Amino acid sequence: MFGKMMHQSLLISNLIEHAAKYHSDTPIISREVNSQITTTNWLQVRQNSKRLANAFSSFNLEQGDRLATIAWNNHRHLESWYAISGSGYVCHTINPRLFPEQLIFIINDAQDKVIFFDSTFLPLINAIQGKVPTVERFICYGARDEKIVEALPHVLFYDELIQNQSAEFAWPQFNEETPSSLCYTSGTTGNPKGVLYSHRSTLLHTMAICFPDSLDLSASDIVMPVVPMFHVNAWGVPYAAAMTGCTLVLPGPNLDGDSLVSLIDDYKVTIALGVPTIWQGLLTAAKSRGTRLESMTRNVVGGAACPPSIIRDFKHNYACDTIHAWGMSETSPLGTANHPKAKHAALSAEDFEKLRLTQGRPPFGVELRIVDGENLTPLPNDGQTQGNLQIRGAWIVDHYFNQEQSALTTDGWFDTGDIATLDADGYMTICDRAKDLIKSGGEWISSVEIENIAVGHPEIRMAAAIAARHAKWDERPILIAVKNENSTLTEEEARAYFENKLARWQIPDVVIFVEALPVNGTGKIVKAELRHQFGDVLLKSEVVESV
Ligand code: AMP
Repeated sequence: MFGKMMHQSLLISNLIEHAAKYHSDTPIISREVNSQITTTNWLQVRQNSKRLANAFSSFNLEQGDRLATIAWNNHRHLESWYAISGSGYVCHTINPRLFPEQLIFIINDAQDKVIFFDSTFLPLINAIQGKVPTVERFICYGARDEKIVEALPHVLFYDELIQNQSAEFAWPQFNEETPSSLCYTSGTTGNPKGVLYSHRSTLLHTMAICFPDSLDLSASDIVMPVVPMFHVNAWGVPYAAAMTGCTLVLPGPNLDGDSLVSLIDDYKVTIALGVPTIWQGLLTAAKSRGTRLESMTRNVVGGAACPPSIIRDFKHNYACDTIHAWGMSETSPLGTANHPKAKHAALSAEDFEKLRLTQGRPPFGVELRIVDGENLTPLPNDGQTQGNLQIRGAWIVDHYFNQEQSALTTDGWFDTGDIATLDADGYMTICDRAKDLIKSGGEWISSVEIENIAVGHPEIRMAAAIAARHAKWDERPILIAVKNENSTLTEEEARAYFENKLARWQIPDVVIFVEALPVNGTGKIVKAELRHQFGDVLLKSEVVESV
């Protein structure tokens, strides 16, 4: 039979070509490490990425080589992404908040040839150089700075490297399954593991995050990824912005509420994305400055369970629709996003809110199931039964980087390590990380549920519920919380707040107030550290039995 359609590989270079061709003058706003704001546009991003691609020709690189970045969200970082992946190399984004030993492990595992870095990370580069033998070049983002040369004599400077290069470069064409970027999981247990994304998986994921039922991105949006480019590729937003031609606001190193509120109001951001701790800081700043965040129509929260109080605050006080989304490094990351269906218009206000608080449902391209952990038996999708959440699809990991063994179950699904419920429409609710569940006298208690209630208290800023060892019940929940400044809240009052909101046996035995909670490089609370610090408090103290 005659007739066939054109074949065009799904390549990351297509994204920047599209953005430069049809959205050339759309601004890219970037906060630099010295706090200054730079404005470029999609055309300049393409030109600089091509200049950098030309500079690579003297680097003696081979297709598939890993080139790493240790940097905030800024325009040079963005240009390098397109240059590296577009040229057929792998862009390895490194989380600078990891310990030096973890960084050394990751760089050696990836065998990075080049490291691009923001000047603020010079001390970190100094701490690791000499221990990362595969790295041939360190490239500092920005103009020449003699102080940096003193500390790192062989350093190259990004601006010098590209300044005399041609902006003409023909992107190589190759198989769309070619690896494009690499991110390591946070490695709270054991060594971090690399997830190697391909051009194909990235482009399909990019399309999916633009869908109306995902981020609903369009050329009239001004999008601010607060989530760092080293956290699962800023959830894919720098690619989606090029695909749709929207304005990007890259917030650089200042992720405090005040700085973010300024960027939103100054640049009329319509949609921003980040983890719950970011939104908590932003809401506090917005309140104290009295802004209404007029331009923001929606914000996306993911990476950890979003407390209902955040969603309500945005909705009622800022007319901003919070999209609750779920995903992980292994899932590129979009697994689910919360949007209602037409039939939900008939729900009561209370049921509608309940639905909006779930993590949402999968877009086309991925599938979810819950199983009984032991023998992979699928469990009912009744919105009640809890099981091990598994996922499969076009942008889900198959093998970790450098690991021969498959990452999947014997029947081809990836086990997320989360415990969840699914309803008949695929709306998913995360109950907990399997390892964070609290097992009290044989009954499971969700730490997420306790935390959601705790941060709904007007005087509690952050909270983490963990399992503490208990002589009689094996484990009991305890709450570690940070109070608002000047709060006089007592432990007794905090515990009383849970009454009628949780069954009595689910209420934390003790509430411990601390100045701050430990958070990891991606802004998530490190519960393992809290368990280490507070896991024995119920064994040591004379705690009144409350169950
Ligand atoms: P990471 O790979 O570091 O992004 O971590 C992924 C993990 O974060 C998931 O397996 C979940 O446990 C957690 N997570 C991500 N998004 C959410 C969410 N919306 N609600 C609850 N947990 C989440």
